[in-house]
Amino acid sequence: MTTYLDFASTTPMAPEVIEKMHAVMKEDSFGNPSSLDHKFGLAAKKIVERSRAEVADLINANPDEILWTSGATESNNLAIVGFHQFQYKNQAMSFLTSHLEHKSVIECMDLIKALGSKVSFIKPNDKGRIDLETLSNQMDEDAVFVSCMHVNNETGIINDIEEIGKFCRKNEIIFHVDAAQSIGKIPVDVDDMCIDLMSMSAHKVYGPKGVGALYINKKSIGRVKSIIVGGGQERGMRSGTLPTHQIVGMATAYKLSKQRMHEDLEHITQCQNSFLKKLSNLNDWKINGSKEHSYPGILSICFPDLYSESLIYAMEDFAISRGSACSSDHDEPSHVLKSMGLVDDEINGTIRISFGRTTSIEQAELAASELIKAVLHLRKLKGCSQ
Ligand code: PMP
Repeated sequence: MTTYLDFASTTPMAPEVIEKMHAVMKEDSFGNPSSLDHKFGLAAKKIVERSRAEVADLINANPDEILWTSGATESNNLAIVGFHQFQYKNQAMSFLTSHLEHKSVIECMDLIKALGSKVSFIKPNDKGRIDLETLSNQMDEDAVFVSCMHVNNETGIINDIEEIGKFCRKNEIIFHVDAAQSIGKIPVDVDDMCIDLMSMSAHKVYGPKGVGALYINKKSIGRVKSIIVGGGQERGMRSGTLPTHQIVGMATAYKLSKQRMHEDLEHITQCQNSFLKKLSNLNDWKINGSKEHSYPGILSICFPDLYSESLIYAMEDFAISRGSACSSDHDEPSHVLKSMGLVDDEINGTIRISFGRTTSIEQAELAASELIKAVLHLRKLKGCSQ
């Protein structure tokens, strides 16, 4: 049996989520949540609004600041391209983001750059974090928008969102956060962190794929233009019939994550500790980034003398990955690791192991033992003496 250790890519749905989605699909709530002339639509609408309140509750937002989308990719597009579309009137506008971001942020930034805006990419420090000093030094007087992710999907590093948020608020700059990897895993409070726009996904926290949300605070709601037009759902900000069963799945996953956050985090930290303790018997490897300021569920480990593909192949009983799922079907080296200053051999020898709620300590230890075996075997084949 293969052990799943790729929770940063996606998570299995929690049984509570499946049960709730199933119930909603079977009940009279199959109606269109915008069809308010009959009980079927009204029942669906009630579920959608209750779910909105549950999602808002996890991040300390108001329900009317939550907009349903198909996932964090769409939310990132709406936040960046939507803000640009609304604001751009041929005047100078400067956007700041980092090389750490998910491709859905980077490619939106490339798009608005092609449309005439200035975009600056900030380099992370060698631990893979964004320093406020670097950010403020790169900021010019036309800066209107900063986009910075919370937890990085390849390394697990956590950026100091509150510090950056306070700086942006003081300088009247819109602050967008891609929180796809942090929501439900570590505390997120949009108020304390001075966040204006925040992208969320359901499937990273035991919810269904294909659903997410964008948090837009009250002050920013009139400053983002819809990028999907049509039936005018979600107050004209995002057209398309709402998927009630997906939405209830996301809300159930978020509610569960809030209840279990402390317990989950403690358990995942134990998995990481047990794994690293075992792995400490091996030489010549390093963690990309650092354990400090990092989410313990994601480990990026580098073996500069080996190829990640060979390691993944040798670890056949474990589902692990090279890095982000989005780049593992393209053959490009990781832009995140590159921006942290890793050389080609280090990038080519990096694997990502990510733990989750259902990982057992035994599985984490066994993964470390198997990894040691795989590394020693591959080094032996290469003729290295250990
Ligand atoms: N941002 C980050 C940091 C992610 O890890 C992901 C998923 N890999 C996304 C955005 C995209 O999320 P979704 O799959 O919900 O579109």
